[in-house]
Amino acid sequence: MKTATIAQATYGTFVEQVKAQKVQRATLRPHRIDYTLKPTFGFKRFYTTPPVGNTDDIPALLRQHQVDVVTPPDNASAMAGLMGLLLSTGALMGTVAWALKNSPGGSAMGVGKTKARTYSSPNPTKTKRGSKTTVTFADVAGVDEAKQELKEVVDFLKDGAKYRKIGAKLPKGVLLVGPPGTGKTLLAKAVAGEANVPFLSVAASEFVELYVGVGASRVRDLFNKAKKQAPCIVFIDELDAIGKSRGGGSPHGGNDEREQTLNQLLTEMDGFDENSGVILVGATNRPEILDPALKRAGRFDRQVLVDRPDRSGRLEILQVHARGVLMAEDVDLGAMAVQTSGFAGADLANLINEAALLAARHDREAVIMADFYEAMERVVAGLEKKSRILSPMERKTVAYHEVGHAIVGALMPGGTKVAKISIVPRGKGALGYTMQTPQEDRYLMLEDELRGQLATLLGGRAAEEVAFGKVSSGASDDIQKATDLAERAVTQYGMAPELGPIAFAHNQSDFLGGDTTRRPMGGEAAAEIDRLVKQSIHQAHEVAKAVLMLNRELLDAMAQTLLQEDVLAGEQLKDMLDQAQAPVNTQIWLAKGRVV
Ligand code: ADP
Ligand code: MG
Ligand code: ZN
Repeated sequence: MKTATIAQATYGTFVEQVKAQKVQRATLRPHRIDYTLKPTFGFKRFYTTPPVGNTDDIPALLRQHQVDVVTPPDNASAMAGLMGLLLSTGALMGTVAWALKNSPGGSAMGVGKTKARTYSSPNPTKTKRGSKTTVTFADVAGVDEAKQELKEVVDFLKDGAKYRKIGAKLPKGVLLVGPPGTGKTLLAKAVAGEANVPFLSVAASEFVELYVGVGASRVRDLFNKAKKQAPCIVFIDELDAIGKSRGGGSPHGGNDEREQTLNQLLTEMDGFDENSGVILVGATNRPEILDPALKRAGRFDRQVLVDRPDRSGRLEILQVHARGVLMAEDVDLGAMAVQTSGFAGADLANLINEAALLAARHDREAVIMADFYEAMERVVAGLEKKSRILSPMERKTVAYHEVGHAIVGALMPGGTKVAKISIVPRGKGALGYTMQTPQEDRYLMLEDELRGQLATLLGGRAAEEVAFGKVSSGASDDIQKATDLAERAVTQYGMAPELGPIAFAHNQSDFLGGDTTRRPMGGEAAAEIDRLVKQSIHQAHEVAKAVLMLNRELLDAMAQTLLQEDVLAGEQLKDMLDQAQAPVNTQIWLAKGRVV
């Protein structure tokens, strides 16, 4: 997690800040006060005072200035006197909710009662044969980044006091986002299993019923249940079923029932304290259609990407699912991992199961590699129908394309670093991606950097030309971006000496983004702008091609490695890119926009 820094403040400063209405929350400890400023007052938000002697008049002061008072439960009795004074303010609701511990969920069900299933995790050391074993992080593989983020949630559920003591706020809601079958549901269960807390799970589609109002009352019921069982996890799967943007959609002016349900969900989320110990986990594979209100601060304010695994991730997943299956000696899961690019976790689980079924059908005692190959054909056929995997030629094209971006990008100025190249297909349409990370915050783009970025954008297309002598449709987004950038350089940033610093387009508010609208102008000026845009794109394209022809061997080597590994990052990527060489004229072009 991002660690909060805690600064020292004197008692006098504290009182001053309270009076200035700057303090959001204070935790009164027997001998000191920890407090948090409102978000608007600076980056350093967490403070602690040195030992404070007489605190008698603090509660009244805090009440007068609307400060939330948190009482640490571990020394609640020491604070009993203060609490007596403060209860009337209602500021202690969160703490009170926390104190109401596990009462196993009844399952009375009826109209308006939620169908949430509660799985109380059994004591892991005492799991007997036949009783339900809990899912843990060990069962989820190949999604390390998502797991890392969720470990924090587990830690909070296990040891909430530690976080409250320091004044850290945990997200109320975590949204797992990713393509189908990547393990979102599995991960949510693993969080509950790891934390050993009750797991209330419900699919959002279950909320949406025939009768208006039923969904909303189910949501209310779910949260009531959750508060009684805190600390616990409430998991809402397929959140998009109720979370679609309001307003748009149905020709009859929207779906009242769904909207009511969504509104109730929003109300409930706002109505519980982040310290209540209820953590909401949502999952969706369509984050783009969710109502923005759901993603606001204090709701599902943290998104965790659960993506398709790379080669090493696939191997781990295969190993997880191979645990209970008898395998012959010739089975090489590593080789299967190489050949299953684009598979999600569920597809890999399916592959192992298909292979096992085939082995059984052939009356074998263990699965052999031939079963895997046969299973592979079946699974791939199914996936191809859903157009979720690429043909070998497509993968090769994507690999060269992305390496092209990376090599050109590595040689261009601008303080960005190529951090990662991937050809694991991403959620929406992207077949691969090259990630550049800035080394520092930048607010201006210099002329040479802008040219460098143009060349980098065109590096993908250029690599296809250099390697295959023909191009694919995969560069359309790059070409769009490059054209926009070149046009803005000429019409907004005044970077074409032929025209000088004249704005030919309306200013846009956001830096290097947004649409441009050209100012009304004579045909001659418009033609000149087009010529200059065309010229700078053409030159950037030529430079990108020259770079890749000069580094042809590196291009081939990197593309081959990428085809093997799916992902190139870290030292390996850096070592390779360090070998890239710039053609002689590059510096001149970057500086002048011409190569002579
Ligand atoms: P999602 O909710 O993202 O659609 P699920 O969690 O329902 O995916 O995954 C379905 C099944 O596929 C899981 O129960 C598990 O058997 C397998 N699976 C998916 N992802 C993984 C993973 N990362 N590691 C291990 N198994 C996985
Ligand atoms: Mg799911
Ligand atoms: Zn591209």
